[in-house]
Amino acid sequence: MEQNNQNNQIIGLEGLGYDEFFEKGRVKAGFGGFGAARVVSEQKGSYIVKNQNGEFFAKITGKRMFFAQGRADYPAVGDWVVIDELPENQAAIHGILPRKTVLERRSGAKIDVQIIATNVDAAFVVQALDGDYSLNRFERYFSLCAAGGIDAIAVLNKTDLVSKEELAVKAEEIKKRFVDAEIIAVSTITDSGLDELKARIEKGKTYCFLGSSGVGKSTIINKLLEKEAIKTGRIDIRTERGRHTTTIRHMYFLPGGGIVIDNPGMREVGMAEAASGVENVFDKIAALAKECKFGDCRHENDPGCAVRAAIQSGEVDAAQFENYQNLKKEAEFFEMDKAQRREKDRDFGKFIKTAKKQLRKLDGL
Ligand code: GDP
Ligand code: ZN
Repeated sequence: MEQNNQNNQIIGLEGLGYDEFFEKGRVKAGFGGFGAARVVSEQKGSYIVKNQNGEFFAKITGKRMFFAQGRADYPAVGDWVVIDELPENQAAIHGILPRKTVLERRSGAKIDVQIIATNVDAAFVVQALDGDYSLNRFERYFSLCAAGGIDAIAVLNKTDLVSKEELAVKAEEIKKRFVDAEIIAVSTITDSGLDELKARIEKGKTYCFLGSSGVGKSTIINKLLEKEAIKTGRIDIRTERGRHTTTIRHMYFLPGGGIVIDNPGMREVGMAEAASGVENVFDKIAALAKECKFGDCRHENDPGCAVRAAIQSGEVDAAQFENYQNLKKEAEFFEMDKAQRREKDRDFGKFIKTAKKQLRKLDGL
């Protein structure tokens, strides 16, 4: 494994956010024999999990996950899972510990719930004071957080671009509409407000940064990390078939002991569009799809495709359609039927058996 950033540092379970809540859940769920580890990254059924021993490339195994149905079957970034450590930094995930909080978004179309992150204590909802700042967007994110039982803090970034008066007006507007709102105004250029932001972050607690692309989330997180880690956070993860795919880390450990999740789910689906009515667009595409000539139309080059026709005529935006397709694919992946899941389990079961045999051989030498 590459040793290219602070995520490879050894951190105890408490430093990773483990507490009595999860420990009780582990024992109660009958996972007493397994160790706990936290999901720091996820991509298409491959996970990077971290515990007091380091990081592991992990896959799901076992007949039954802790959660019985749907999208929640699968671990998400932020989850505590129970694992078997295997050779070569591999691990098998046996179950998910009960979640403290779940941050999720629902699409207007009939697409399943998409988990953004779990076990988040508080969310920083970032908007920049230039461009497309909007109170409605705060409202959307705040309600997302409220639904997940997560505290939300409004972060007004790029204060260097506006006057003190303008900032005061914006803060007043927020307080008027969201009476109890916590507001932190920052600038990563002047560093104004960054100490206040740091002070809001507690040791062992988990935070996420939400907000449209371009508002400065990565820049803020890099400031909190006191080094530029996000852009260098790419590593390779080996799948059980030996192919190499790239994944991006989503969890960062701050020098002060706070844990930060960079909003993984939203980057792909473009929350910027979501705020300005992507749900309507999705509904429209879903409705159009029903008019396609073939029931299993993939809206690619299929004849009689109503969706393609709408894109050609400009009725539907090609980028929005792409978002729709991505979200749908993701939903389908997570709704993969049981037979496929069993097959995956079997493949991985074989891998574990071989690995264990090799281990025993090594032990015998
Ligand atoms: P993200 O997409 O939310 O992660 O946004 P980035 O962190 O990539 O920042 C987007 C752009 O905003 C970059 O060009 C940053 O340099 C810029 N930016 C970030 N913070 C500030 C700030 O406080 N003031 C100004 N003027 N620009 C900023
Ligand atoms: Zn079609």
